[in-house]
Amino acid sequence: MPSFAYFDKQFVPLAKAKLGVMTNALHYGTAIFEGIRGNWNSDQKQIYLFRLKEHFERLHNGCRVLKIDPPHSVDELCQITVKLVAMCRFEEDVYVRPLAYKSSESLGVRLHDLESDFLAFVIPWGPYLDMDKAKCGISSWRRPDYNVIPPSAKLTGLYINNALAKTEAIEKGFDEAIMLTPDGHISEGTGENLFLVTDGKLVTPASDNHILLGITRDTVIKLAKDELGIETVERPIELGELFTAEECFLTGTAAHITPVGEIDHRPIASGGVGAITGKLQELYFEVIRGNNPKYLDWCTPVY
Ligand code: PMP
Repeated sequence: MPSFAYFDKQFVPLAKAKLGVMTNALHYGTAIFEGIRGNWNSDQKQIYLFRLKEHFERLHNGCRVLKIDPPHSVDELCQITVKLVAMCRFEEDVYVRPLAYKSSESLGVRLHDLESDFLAFVIPWGPYLDMDKAKCGISSWRRPDYNVIPPSAKLTGLYINNALAKTEAIEKGFDEAIMLTPDGHISEGTGENLFLVTDGKLVTPASDNHILLGITRDTVIKLAKDELGIETVERPIELGELFTAEECFLTGTAAHITPVGEIDHRPIASGGVGAITGKLQELYFEVIRGNNPKYLDWCTPVY
């Protein structure tokens, strides 16, 4: 199935969307990206884009950090995305990759005096962490401090940190890395936030633990509270707490809710999918596919 891109303020076949070799963002990581899921509902023959507006609000915030003047408002970006996904006519789960980038074909390390542009494309994309239970390893690479690169924005250049950690984890035989804060507390996975279940409550690193404030993280906190009556405590987590947790899972747009089976070769509890993780997964998958009427506000239909 041919895919399309929004590029140079036009909808074009994906194969026609090409950037010049001197594009500033390619050389210095001067771009902000997003990852948005379109979830296929086979009964309704519909794709629902999940929490579209929140993704573009986060993109706009990132643009402020990089002095990118976004060429479109949040509402316009939502409309462009719906149109783009509809053009592709996919009948499966898709992933949208928007990018606001320094588009000038101009070298030199800086943020000022550069033009910006916006592009987006759609690809079919099934599960990201393709497993029932992830094996995680504690990374030797720590998250950057707030005065190094702000970890709360999806800056493309920042993701070298995540790529170093991910490849180290894979080369050591793990599925995913868990990165620590500069002072040694738990931060997050390379593309996911982390949750523990401790004493029947959810515990997750707080906003000042060098994390990206995930939209899935927020979704899980709300579903746990409103549907299961389970509170989430947002606080610094010590490394040792991982090994005594009742359950552990990762959350992200790409990874959805992925249970963690072991960390550094130590099984989490029995090593199976925990009861609370399982309930949250069930709820979450109904919500993102537009099957739970209570949460349809989070789902933008494409067709
Ligand atoms: N942390 C990092 C480093 C990420 O790249 C992502 C993916 N965007 C997340 C957490 C999860 O964020 P979200 O749930 O918004 O996809």
